[in-house]
Amino acid sequence: MQCAKETHVDMRIEKQLQKGHAPNLSDYDQECASFSWAKAREELDGLPGDRGLNLAYEAIGRHVAKGLGDQTAIIWLGKKGERVEISYAELDSLSNKFANVLANLGVEPGDRVYSLAGRIPELYVCALGTLKHRAVFCPLFSAFGPEPIAQRLNLGEARVLLSTERLYRRRIAGIRERIPTLEHVIVVADPKKPKKPEGTVDWSDAMTEAMADYEIADTDPETPALLHFTSGTTGTPKGAYHVHQAVLTHYMTGKLALDLRPGDIYWCTADPGWVTGTSYGISAPLTNRVTMIIDEAEFDPKRWYQILEEEKVQVWYTAPTAIRMLMKTGPELPQSKDLSALRFMASVGEPLNPQAVVWGYEVFGKPFHDNWWQTETGGIMISNYASMDVKPGSMGRPIPGVTAGIVREGDDGHLHEVDDPDKDGELALRPDWPSMFRGYWNNKERYDACFRDGWYLSGDLARRDEEGYYWFVGRADDVIKSAGHLIGPFEVESVIMKHPAVAEVGVIGKPDPVAGTIIKAFVSLHPDHEWSDELQKELIGFGRKNLGTAAPREIDFIESLPKTRSGKIMRRLLKARELGLPEGDTSTLEGGDS
Ligand code: ATP
Ligand code: MG
Repeated sequence: MQCAKETHVDMRIEKQLQKGHAPNLSDYDQECASFSWAKAREELDGLPGDRGLNLAYEAIGRHVAKGLGDQTAIIWLGKKGERVEISYAELDSLSNKFANVLANLGVEPGDRVYSLAGRIPELYVCALGTLKHRAVFCPLFSAFGPEPIAQRLNLGEARVLLSTERLYRRRIAGIRERIPTLEHVIVVADPKKPKKPEGTVDWSDAMTEAMADYEIADTDPETPALLHFTSGTTGTPKGAYHVHQAVLTHYMTGKLALDLRPGDIYWCTADPGWVTGTSYGISAPLTNRVTMIIDEAEFDPKRWYQILEEEKVQVWYTAPTAIRMLMKTGPELPQSKDLSALRFMASVGEPLNPQAVVWGYEVFGKPFHDNWWQTETGGIMISNYASMDVKPGSMGRPIPGVTAGIVREGDDGHLHEVDDPDKDGELALRPDWPSMFRGYWNNKERYDACFRDGWYLSGDLARRDEEGYYWFVGRADDVIKSAGHLIGPFEVESVIMKHPAVAEVGVIGKPDPVAGTIIKAFVSLHPDHEWSDELQKELIGFGRKNLGTAAPREIDFIESLPKTRSGKIMRRLLKARELGLPEGDTSTLEGGDS
């Protein structure tokens, strides 16, 4: 790697543990040495009578059984200023009802129950009721247009769909006959015009008729539970499915990586349409018995800071794009708020630039803790922990119980671990953690191709330093080979981000008749800066000074970078547009077909 030295940021944020405030994971090495998944399993209850492990029971039933049902499970903040609290006991009884709704409709265990709804309470009731009934819950992002919806419903052979009246009329009604497996659509009515669309089941009617008691049947830990589509950053989205025992990873990583404690006020900003919004927006928080905030509205800096202050959020889990947008609005707003309740801040989804970590530290008095995982891994795999020093730009260290490695193919054609801290390779995991995906739906070949020589291959390139911290280099597809060197876009982007005018940056490799490939950067600017030839020259000079041969030869202005709806920069689109090539699957493109 060319630019490794410059971006192995010299800074280190040291943690000093306060007496009486020890994080759940206070000694990383000790925790790793004593950890086993079997021991972790003992912290969960299992279905009464030793009848297996059901995600929904671990999330709610067991707390209610212990007399803790009065605790608030959900604080729901509506777009129009509504605020609704739902206790664990209420959530238990509502999801029992929904499980009975499914039973009344003749839905069988293993059938796929989809949702296409905004972040409304019914979605969470549907998720938990579906899991109780041992059907497979598959949430779709509500801004998808009809085509991506049809594609995903057909891929997973949906039998039931939960939606809202508005979304049904706009997005589903027209495609319904193209989804032959879809028997029932349950619709949450618009209170202003509660007229049920033809051929649908009304949510309120069905829930009123259903009983509030439901006994979860024996659940083998390997029973399929969740089906999630990937973000489509690198191509057509894949449907990865997970089983009920994924709850073990959700619970343990919520506890160890997010430092969740019973009774905490916790806010995961992700939508359940993406895996983060389910694993860490439903399962991890509820199994750790926290009170979770659900905000129905879209990103808005003012609103977000207000929520953090007014709801006294203690643990906040968000994403790099949101953090960069908050940085864009400046430090004044957060500094005018009382955010003293905030104890831990974490980020996932794409690389978190060192600048963002440091900004968090300066503005909130604590750094953002980056962690790495994928739809396929079902839960956090590599993380920065509350007790561990943070090296800005690093993803942290593997979760206790997870074995990670950096691998390369050797001359013998097999994968071997790379021990040299300056050498990158593919980030791989030993496939034995509970939330590992058990397949891509109906695509065994693609699933099998992810495993080799006893490793699960992530498709991401990374490096591991002397202290065991992992550093993201880039997605295998995005890495640039220029002048004989492999260059990771993230490290180039992180350096360009240091320039005060730059708000966001995306880097690609561009074919060049002389050099083979040159590096090209696209930058968007902070509001108080304007694009000009001088600034362009200055940025190119800035890159050259800090990156040497890994500097972008070309830098262009872009109003905003193309991103997936889950907020990831789509470098493949930057490249296709630059080279005039076909754009490929754009179903997850933000602002695209909806
Ligand atoms: P697709 O597989 O369809 O191209 P995707 O990989 O973006 O989409 P997800 O499973 O949502 O779909 O995202 C996982 C990927 O996001 C990781 O493989 C990695 O490339 C990136 N990622 C997630 N967290 C981090 C992180 N902390 N640092 C760097 N990259 C990250
Ligand atoms: Mg992926």
